[in-house]
Amino acid sequence: MKLFRSFKSLQNELYSSNFSCEELVDFYLKKINQSKNNSFVETFNDSALSQARAIDQEISVKKHRKLSGLIVAIKDNICYEGHGVTASSSILKGFKSVYSATVVRRLIEHGAIIIGRLNCDEFAMGSSNEKSTYGPVKNPIDPNKVPGGSSGGSAAAVSEGLCLVSLGSDTGGSIRQPAAFCGVIGLKPTYSRVSRYGLIAYASSFDQIGPIANNIEDIALVLEVISGKDRNDSTSSSLDVPNYTKLNPKRSNKKIAYLSECINHTGLDPEIRQNFLLKIDELKHQGFVVEPISFPLLDYLVATYYVLSTAEASSNLARFDGINYANRVSNVKDLNEAYVFSRNAGFGEEVKRRIMLGTFVLSSGYHDAYFTKAQKIRRKIRNTIEEVFKTYDYVLTPTTPHVAFNIGDVNTDPTQMYLEDIFTVLANLSGNPAISMPINNHSTGLPYGFQIMGRNFDEEGILSFSKNYF
Ligand code: GLN
Repeated sequence: MKLFRSFKSLQNELYSSNFSCEELVDFYLKKINQSKNNSFVETFNDSALSQARAIDQEISVKKHRKLSGLIVAIKDNICYEGHGVTASSSILKGFKSVYSATVVRRLIEHGAIIIGRLNCDEFAMGSSNEKSTYGPVKNPIDPNKVPGGSSGGSAAAVSEGLCLVSLGSDTGGSIRQPAAFCGVIGLKPTYSRVSRYGLIAYASSFDQIGPIANNIEDIALVLEVISGKDRNDSTSSSLDVPNYTKLNPKRSNKKIAYLSECINHTGLDPEIRQNFLLKIDELKHQGFVVEPISFPLLDYLVATYYVLSTAEASSNLARFDGINYANRVSNVKDLNEAYVFSRNAGFGEEVKRRIMLGTFVLSSGYHDAYFTKAQKIRRKIRNTIEEVFKTYDYVLTPTTPHVAFNIGDVNTDPTQMYLEDIFTVLANLSGNPAISMPINNHSTGLPYGFQIMGRNFDEEGILSFSKNYF
């Protein structure tokens, strides 16, 4: 058997009885076991094999479900009833989900097989997957490099072929940046398109779950299944879910903008800049109107994101107190010590830094100076982007300023690490959907990505444009 790169070819072979679903799952479990990249935290052997046997049964009576046999792995911050979930933090080690996330429930209902959970930065805070209690994930293209983060395991597993599709979560770029570093496709849907029920919250007004895969068809298929209203998430949109898999034909009557400040950014790798400008020329030749626009707010994005996301995180993570959730240390004198010692022992350095920063920006003396101000800037950013999309259909930028960096190089400098998010946080601050498409012409041999941001709920447009022109 081979590692599949597309669900269509897998399903064809499965339904031609070239192998059974049980054999397929066995094969993937062995491959995951042999992998040295540390992308999986755990495989769900028993439940995956029993799902596979059920599908074999269905195949024998010619029953067909949309995702029958799709091998999916989920980021370690998405709940699956009866299975471990820890947000790659030692504070949750040993914790088992008591219910399934809506995305997981929907995938299973359509026949997907959840093969295991994937390493990530602790509580999805990071850009390199080095902040995990399970140790760093290695980039499958070069094991000395980081896979990106925080959904580093999700991107690395798909890139290495250990699953066909994975789910990640994206609060400031955590699906798109690792997808770019590992040479695969990652989509952050419009905020509210996909239910967040069962996702361990980091910053609730930014978080979105989305797919990572090798091709647009698989992204579209999974998005179609996981999108839609969910009564367990009151913020989920009740807009109809289109048939994302029905991709539009080539049409170059679209208007595209790119942000001058991104392209002139001093931190942008010159080769990425040059290739980006070549891509712009190519699109113009294909008939698109492509224009540079000025976006002076670029320098405010990272700061605004880190004020607001840490504020939300400090509140969301308050529940991990050793009483309601999380591991409690023993030998404490009183309740206060139980909280303090448990949280001190369980959280890693970066998580503590963000909880403290978030508590600070929300504290009574500083609330207006930081939190309220950042909210106002967020509103300004949203208004500006809304204006842009009145004229343009898509906004193009590189996904990241450079290719994957060495494990260890940035890990000790938080500010440097935060700047990794400069091109991706915009879509989270504004809520718009954005995809990272892999580009493979860098002289280092490492992949990078071009990011396509679209109008709210125009996943259809983004997917078709990406499929036809990237
Ligand atoms: N790198 C960003 C951060 O550290 C984004 C994380 C994410 O999207 N979950 O917050």
